[in-house]
Amino acid sequence: MRLPINTIYHDFKARGLKATQQRLAVLAAAAHADGYFTPQGLYETLKNQCAAVGLTTVYRALEALERAGLICRIESTRDERLYAYCSRVHHHHIICDGCAQVVELDDCALPGLARQLERETGFIIRSHTLEFHGLCCTCRLETQGNLRGVA
Ligand SMILES: [Zn+2]
Ligand SMILES: [Zn+2]
Ligand SMILES: [Zn+2]
Repeated sequence: MRLPINTIYHDFKARGLKATQQRLAVLAAAAHADGYFTPQGLYETLKNQCAAVGLTTVYRALEALERAGLICRIESTRDERLYAYCSRVHHHHIICDGCAQVVELDDCALPGLARQLERETGFIIRSHTLEFHGLCCTCRLETQGNLRGVA
């Protein structure tokens, strides 16, 4: 997903985030990543582009961008943090554990459940997160092929 640079500037401004060179470089690299990415992976990409951004700076920039809602943090059981560049509307993710592709789900079916939970628990629910992990069509076929090969 490619964003014109003035859109990116606007996003930073609208969220009261200072558009430093490093943050712009990190966001641009994130926007061009295929599927989800790790801070380390993004750092390697930037290094190959000769962008002088240290690993710690990449971590900090990603945290700032996540807080501002410009990128998503993907829940994961891995040791490394995972992020994805998504749209700006409320959404959920399906993540392929095989090839790292992230599919956005725009239709949120949870507000009904949230209201029911509010009635049952007396809570006021302010937000929720939900992610699906699995294998995409391509990876599923590959896995089946391998299993057949073994058998
Ligand atoms: Zn997302
Ligand atoms: Zn896959
Ligand atoms: Zn939702």
